[in-house]
Amino acid sequence: MLVSVKEMLQKARAGKYAVPQININNLEWTKSVLATAQELQSPVILGVSEGAGKYMTGFKTVAAMVKAMVEEMGITVPVALHLDHGTYEGCLKCIEAGFSSIMFDGSHYPIDENVEKTRELVKICAEKGLSLEAEVGSIGGEEDGVVGMGEFADPNECKMIADLGVDILAAGIGNIHGKYPANWPGLNFEVLAAVKEKVGDMPLVLHGGTGIPADMIKKAISLGVSKINVNTECQLSFAAATRKYIEEGKDLQGKGYDPRKLLAPGAEAIKETVKEKMELFGSVGKA
Ligand SMILES: [Zn+2]
Repeated sequence: MLVSVKEMLQKARAGKYAVPQININNLEWTKSVLATAQELQSPVILGVSEGAGKYMTGFKTVAAMVKAMVEEMGITVPVALHLDHGTYEGCLKCIEAGFSSIMFDGSHYPIDENVEKTRELVKICAEKGLSLEAEVGSIGGEEDGVVGMGEFADPNECKMIADLGVDILAAGIGNIHGKYPANWPGLNFEVLAAVKEKVGDMPLVLHGGTGIPADMIKKAISLGVSKINVNTECQLSFAAATRKYIEEGKDLQGKGYDPRKLLAPGAEAIKETVKEKMELFGSVGKA
């Protein structure tokens, strides 16, 4: 059974750790993430972008696959299936498909329209028992063709959106999607503290968790971040392990071309990355 993110994050905030949101792209990805969460007894949030949803033929396929895997793999830790950076239409589709949590990314709308659409989604999610994440201040980098400038969230706008009744808030604090450039100035903890001051107990999300130094992650958690999104790092480790397998010519030995063999090193590499994140975020043993 899939659960909403709300209770997971309330526990995380109280326990001073963060729950990882690991984005999934296919069956192997999902299997690796679920197996690692179960092994380490960590709650986990499976993130699905609109692009990844399309790639997997649609949100219904994703929801059916995840639900079946949780059952067939005997997963007992809390698992949430969460739409990442959803459009308004995408949110409605995921609610219908059986996701347990959604993020409405209204950051590119004028604030009035963001508020209006968020309000509608708050109502629907409350009725259906889903958790809702909202974003204030665009997050830098590129995700599914949406390019943000990495601005800092306005704490007053955060307060306005939080008061609409969302469950989780993503606020830009200098974090970006994808790989961080060498001259990245780091997270802005003054902005984070100012946002926290305004929104109180609302769980905060840190997007773009790939490559943020461990000490900054820990400080962010201590300042109220209780969900951290990781996507690129699994892609990099999957690609590196797959490259190694092919460069070593293993696909040419015996039945090394069998997809179950060809994709195995990448799947193991994802497990290793997820494990590192769960240890860093402090979610091990918190299921
Ligand atoms: Zn994001």
